[in-house]
Amino acid sequence: MDDNIFEKLKILSDAAKYDVSCVSSGVDRKNNTVGSIGNAAACGICHTWSADGRCISLLKILLTNDCIYDCKYCMNRVTNPTNRATFTPEEVAELTIQFYRRNYIEGLFLSSAVEKSPDYTMENLYRVLYLLRYKYNFWGYVHVKGIPGASNDLIQKTGMLADRMSVNIELPTRESLSLLAPQKKVENLLKPMALINHEISRTIDDKKHFSNTPRFVPGGQSTQMIIGATPDNDKTILNLSQNLYDRFNMKRVFFSAYIPVISAPNLPAISTMPPMLREHRLYQADWLMRFYYFKSEELFTETEPNLDLEFDPKMMFALRNMDKFPIEINKASYEELLRIPGLGVTSAQRIIRERKNAELSYDSLRKMRTVLKRAKYFITVKGKYYGNINFDPDRIKDEVRQQEIQKQISIFDLV
Ligand code: SF4
Repeated sequence: MDDNIFEKLKILSDAAKYDVSCVSSGVDRKNNTVGSIGNAAACGICHTWSADGRCISLLKILLTNDCIYDCKYCMNRVTNPTNRATFTPEEVAELTIQFYRRNYIEGLFLSSAVEKSPDYTMENLYRVLYLLRYKYNFWGYVHVKGIPGASNDLIQKTGMLADRMSVNIELPTRESLSLLAPQKKVENLLKPMALINHEISRTIDDKKHFSNTPRFVPGGQSTQMIIGATPDNDKTILNLSQNLYDRFNMKRVFFSAYIPVISAPNLPAISTMPPMLREHRLYQADWLMRFYYFKSEELFTETEPNLDLEFDPKMMFALRNMDKFPIEINKASYEELLRIPGLGVTSAQRIIRERKNAELSYDSLRKMRTVLKRAKYFITVKGKYYGNINFDPDRIKDEVRQQEIQKQISIFDLV
């Protein structure tokens, strides 16, 4: 590889590591065209380029880090004296194919700073996809960023060639955005999301009538939000996520714990640790909203607008709503079963299925391999409570804490 390209690759792959929205799940598209290369498989792709280990499957790069904007939290902002580099679309396409042929990667995650203008940047992103698809006949997975402020036409034609698109919402509120990313407007961020959502639905509908209609971003759209750079609480963050899921059919909302790499008056001090546990709790809550029928407002109270860092969100929901528990295993609906701490989708489905044959006992739950370590404090089986302690939130918290200590001790024993 020529030194110049290698140098650009070093700069632009490093600059891309702060973007976390690069999972390749959600697309299972076989390539049936003779003479073309690459499949987009729903299973994980097993190679990695990123140095921080966050993305394990795709060549993850920026087209350029030469940005005209000045987002305070970003290394690539115009006022930050950092090394700049810009790939040409031809270079990115060529690099992707070379890496693909050497089996380093199976797809591409392509983002970009805003160079010259949103349209100029989006046009170059489009050009990369066009070259990959039509010059190199590469039909592997490609996730591309939509640049806010770019024309509908450019977003539209890029989406026809991409597997997934994402437009970053960046920060949880309008106020935070105007404080830290004053050149970005909420409307400009939401407009391409609405367009992408519209095009996805349109092509799905068309496909019902004309089976050879090409799909627009078949892997759906996602977005990313930085957390911990502003004082916004978790309730605000999850309310916004819920809105994004409801309004734009987001496949995923990703949370990125802010890593303080820049000293600025409105940002956490450089010495502040990135809020990784908070990020983890937000993902747990997000999971509850997507698969367990929870609404974001159920996870908070008036006085507690942040997720608890000691106990997971489902556990906290149960402890705050003891009047809804214990739940009788033999009578509960599927949705109610999913609210029991420690009980997952598989166990809930198994319970529903098995109790059609006979009333379940505590033993039969065990035999079905239902994990009852936490669930036992929140259920009755044939009317009997098996928690062995008073049905009291503080007592349950103590017991769960003890379980955690035991777990840690046994890990040390193993070592
Ligand atoms: S537009 Fe993107 S790359 Fe440019 S400064 Fe803002 S966050 Fe960074």
